[in-house]
Amino acid sequence: MPGTAPRRAASDPLATYRYKRDFTRTREPAGATVPVASLPAGNRFVVQRHRARRLHYDFRLEMGGVLASWAVPKGPTLDPSVRRAAFHVEDHPLEYYDFEGVIPAGEYGGGDVIVWDAGTWDHYYQREGRDPVDAVGHGELHMELDGQKLKGKFVLVRTSVDDAGKESWLLLHKKDEFVVAGWDAEEHPRSVLSGRTNDEVKADPDRLWRSDLPAAEAAIALHPPTFEPVSRAELRALDRIGVAGRWEVFGHEARLTNLDKVLFPPRGREKPVTKRDLVRYAAQIAPTLVPYLTRRALNMHRFPNGVGTTGFWHKELPGHAPSWLARWDNPDADQGETLTYLVVDEPATLVWVANYGALEWHAWTSRVEDPNRPTYALVDLDPGERTTWPELLALARLHRTAFEHLGVEAWPKLTGRRGIQIWVPVETGPSFDETREWVERVSRTVGAVMPELVSWKWQVRDRSGLARLDYTQNAINKTLVAPYSPRAAPGAPVSAPIEWDELDDPGLRPDRYTIRTILRRLDERGDLFAPVLTTRQRLPTLH
Ligand code: MN
Repeated sequence: MPGTAPRRAASDPLATYRYKRDFTRTREPAGATVPVASLPAGNRFVVQRHRARRLHYDFRLEMGGVLASWAVPKGPTLDPSVRRAAFHVEDHPLEYYDFEGVIPAGEYGGGDVIVWDAGTWDHYYQREGRDPVDAVGHGELHMELDGQKLKGKFVLVRTSVDDAGKESWLLLHKKDEFVVAGWDAEEHPRSVLSGRTNDEVKADPDRLWRSDLPAAEAAIALHPPTFEPVSRAELRALDRIGVAGRWEVFGHEARLTNLDKVLFPPRGREKPVTKRDLVRYAAQIAPTLVPYLTRRALNMHRFPNGVGTTGFWHKELPGHAPSWLARWDNPDADQGETLTYLVVDEPATLVWVANYGALEWHAWTSRVEDPNRPTYALVDLDPGERTTWPELLALARLHRTAFEHLGVEAWPKLTGRRGIQIWVPVETGPSFDETREWVERVSRTVGAVMPELVSWKWQVRDRSGLARLDYTQNAINKTLVAPYSPRAAPGAPVSAPIEWDELDDPGLRPDRYTIRTILRRLDERGDLFAPVLTTRQRLPTLH
């Protein structure tokens, strides 16, 4: 059963808008030439080069709250001696305005789409009180285009309507200062949004258009989003709040409580970590961390009274949560199971999570669109009481060697407690059963090299203190702690990504980095885990 997209609380009139803004944000496009998102709404136009069953250009004019649309097989031209055939097609939702990406095969219009031109337009006669929607109804629309490629006066004229109601029109450019004789759209094939061609977009699309979803949710980001860092002014404002108050951060108002409560006791001679420290860290790490959480259900490990008290898993989003938080209803939830999960899709949400007393952040390994198909295969090297750190490192190195041998790219991180995890990004496709079986086979092979270190027993007490190579987390609703998440331990250690060669660093420890030290490492080394977000690979068959 396919999953549904996250939804917003219906009580928020801007929910749809925010939802779209967040999820359609993509990485900075290379060579962007048009700030499409900042064009004033109301009289925008777009021309999309669309390779469906047949190549055509979709010429779309914003009017009456929709995109009135014509399919132009040969594309518009600046040559006034050429008239292009155009076919009036169904209106498109405004959300489609800047869509560039892929429409899945088998869906209506399946193929690839680029934003070939975009800008604003004027209806000549609008000042005389004539409505462009009426002009289209009357079969003649005069317009002045101000795009990147198309400029000047254009006319759309209806020439015939067949028995089935299919309207044939002509699109022509009038003689004006923008005339270019012999101008052919096919000689100007690049997107004004990304600088890319249809072939380039098809090979590595940023977005997918799911026409089975509501328009506001149909554009699915395939690349990690990018976020602005928290500003110094915002951090100063946090410091000025007393024990509780409202904090304007990342464009939202977060209500903060008990800011001076100690959540993590100190490690050694360090100062204890308060909720204010955790909230500040959440805001600082969010632009790096949110891409690992977005479009995934979040399981929160809450310790409202701090480390040392009993923590508990919190999955159901509480009714009092602010309406701007993205959420997802699990369509497969049985009676008594969690239905509505939080989805951390923007930095402000992580601030809310921290204030809620969630000290550890664990996202699902599948996305909400396809909850039964993981995007990562996970290896969890779980030390037993007798496992020494050098032994755990040896097991990690063996996995590295195995993955190299198999030609699989994998990234290690410290758990922040005692272990090491290895994440293997996979192209969506295999089921959890398949990734689990694959990881089990790799780990059993590795374990056979050092059998004296490893137990395959389920129960901790049966393991005789040996390490466990845990493949069982490759299952729906099982999670491993997210990279950069704090851990519920003194000093607020974090789960820190490392480079493979750091396994040989004698100073390495699984809880080496804390919320006080990881940001500097991130500054110096960058996000070592970032390739996990963009790598798509198939797991090779194991013999
Ligand atoms: Mn089309």
